[in-house]
Amino acid sequence: MTPKTIIEPFKIKSVEPIKFTTREEREKLLKNAGYNPFMLHADNVLIDLLTDSGTSAMSAKQWAGIMNGDEAYAGSKSFYRFEAAVNKITNMKHIIPTHQGRAAEKILFSIVGGKGKYFPNNTHFDTTRANIEFTGAEADDLLVEIGKHPAERADFKGNMDVEKLEDFIKEKGAENIPLCMLTVTNNSGGGQPVSMKNIRETKEVCKKHNIPLFLDACRFAENAYFIKLREKGYENKPVLEIAQEMFSYADGATMSAKKDALVNIGGFLAMNDEELAMKCRNLLIVTEGFPTYGGLAGRDLEAVAQGLEEVVDEHYLQYRIKSVEYLGNKLVDAGVPIIEPPGGHAIYIDAKRFLPNIPAEQYPGQSIVCELYLEGGVRGVEIGSVMFGKYDENGKLIPAMMELVRLAIPRRVYTQSHIDYLIEVIIEVFKNRNKLKGYKITYEAPMLRHFTAQFEPIG
Ligand SMILES: *Cc1c(COP(=O)(O)O)cnc(C)c1O
Repeated sequence: MTPKTIIEPFKIKSVEPIKFTTREEREKLLKNAGYNPFMLHADNVLIDLLTDSGTSAMSAKQWAGIMNGDEAYAGSKSFYRFEAAVNKITNMKHIIPTHQGRAAEKILFSIVGGKGKYFPNNTHFDTTRANIEFTGAEADDLLVEIGKHPAERADFKGNMDVEKLEDFIKEKGAENIPLCMLTVTNNSGGGQPVSMKNIRETKEVCKKHNIPLFLDACRFAENAYFIKLREKGYENKPVLEIAQEMFSYADGATMSAKKDALVNIGGFLAMNDEELAMKCRNLLIVTEGFPTYGGLAGRDLEAVAQGLEEVVDEHYLQYRIKSVEYLGNKLVDAGVPIIEPPGGHAIYIDAKRFLPNIPAEQYPGQSIVCELYLEGGVRGVEIGSVMFGKYDENGKLIPAMMELVRLAIPRRVYTQSHIDYLIEVIIEVFKNRNKLKGYKITYEAPMLRHFTAQFEPIG
């Protein structure tokens, strides 16, 4: 038979209890956290969907790898296993370990960035943008139009607008664009995938102008699985081969292993250009460590190597993508507005449509985030005007393009009954949406304010 129920493709060997709290307790805890769930003690969260980054459950083989880690300072056996695992997927000549994705970005953009330089991407992730802007360069998002419409369904809403890219290169001058990036899947744009056709076409434009193409490859396996499900000609290809083809069009990649390498810490920078790799390694030695460990322990490198083998397993990916889709479809059926279709790693509630009566100045996303915690001990994150809002010269808020609440699903951590509970909580909050209040900011830091801002409910 072909079973209808897709089950978790693992059994559980080790468990971690989660703590139940009452609504009264949560009211106090949230107030003490300044109505910012980032400030909660994770202990007091029942279902933690703040991020899928570094929150994966490792497999027994990864934990065995931790014990097998070779902690030699230089030339550790674990490095060579790591290098081979990354090479198998990316086929890149130079593979440089880093402690996180942003460390790879920091090194890359310190070398190729600077004032007068431009970096196009489908959508820059916030650390990528920050690392580019920190050098004085400009980070530009050239997402296809459909990617900006949360309610409209399409297969590849993460695609680069290739025509815009052509115009962009003409306008800025190829000599001022050290590299072009593609983020797979498009995290900031709802975890939406990029098609192989789009990667190929982006590469063609880049090649014509002699601009290297880099993948921000954090979720390469989820992207590859979407290609298998949705793009003609790939339905019978193994995901590993699809991933290899994706990387074959790239000249380099940055990756946070905290996503699709199924580990709690790690990342890498990969590229084919020898001269650039040499410069990166030299900077790595200053900021991260020797090139065969790059800010990681040998055991971390083992866990990444093993994780990269497990993440292309199609039973795993089927479970991963289908469980996010299951959550998304249940919410859509109940009328809850989300970015459609569901992405790879998260569900994004569209707070503008969820709370049309709360204006951007009163942060509707923050209101939902707070209520999800109060209602069910669920922690999500606002991705809207709290995170991306700016002020004009009169101190008036310039709202973000979208007001979203992201519920990121950690890999292999929660079971279907956790997800069913989550659906109940969200639907309950949606039913009571007319009672939700707006929020005002009572403290904010000058940069990346969402992490530490303090709020108060209005009225
Ligand atoms: C997480 C992430 C990064 C940064 O990686 P860290 O390991 O958190 O430093 C970069 N790009 C994308 C798309 C990400 O999701």
